[in-house]
Amino acid sequence: MKAENSSTAAGEVRPQPDGARPDLSNATIREDLAGRGRCALVHLPTGRTCLLPLRHHGACEFHRPQEADDVVAGG
Ligand SMILES: [Zn+2]
Repeated sequence: MKAENSSTAAGEVRPQPDGARPDLSNATIREDLAGRGRCALVHLPTGRTCLLPLRHHGACEFHRPQEADDVVAGG
């Protein structure tokens, strides 16, 4: 009985070229806001969050963390 054959090919992690946006390389997503159907993109240098709907048109509008928290709390 060998336990060597436990390679996890299914867990392969690879980049997704379609979703890659160089201009967003310094940003991340707030999952609590994403769960609210928001864009939820966080501009790391400022700590502001986009509260527009997911897949909104145009550029992101970044709001203060307090406003983001209100969205999460109040829906
Ligand atoms: Zn956005």
